[in-house]
Amino acid sequence: MIGVERFKALLLQQRRTLLDIAATDEKGAQTVELDQTRVGRLSRMDALQQQAMSQEAMRRRHSALQSIDSALARIESGDYGYCMDCGEEIVNGRLEIDPAVPLCVKCAGKLES
Ligand SMILES: [Zn+2]
Repeated sequence: MIGVERFKALLLQQRRTLLDIAATDEKGAQTVELDQTRVGRLSRMDALQQQAMSQEAMRRRHSALQSIDSALARIESGDYGYCMDCGEEIVNGRLEIDPAVPLCVKCAGKLES
């Protein structure tokens, strides 16, 4: 399969970006907690909402990292670029958009409908 090295570089880059964001976000969460001691009830609710949002963002980052890691594992095993469901080759254009994508267009469509 052509271009695996390039996709691998993209995946590693995305992974690094996600981890960077995670590090920044965790610092942000600590700041919210410190502010809570000197702000009123409404702001506390804001802080809680913000916390919920950052937890949701964390959850999404976690699942994105998992897809990236499993894509990297597929590169190592030589399965990268093939649909994990039907085994058909995934078109390069699709991998360009999301190099961690595990399914071909057809199988991803089946899941969505
Ligand atoms: Zn498929």
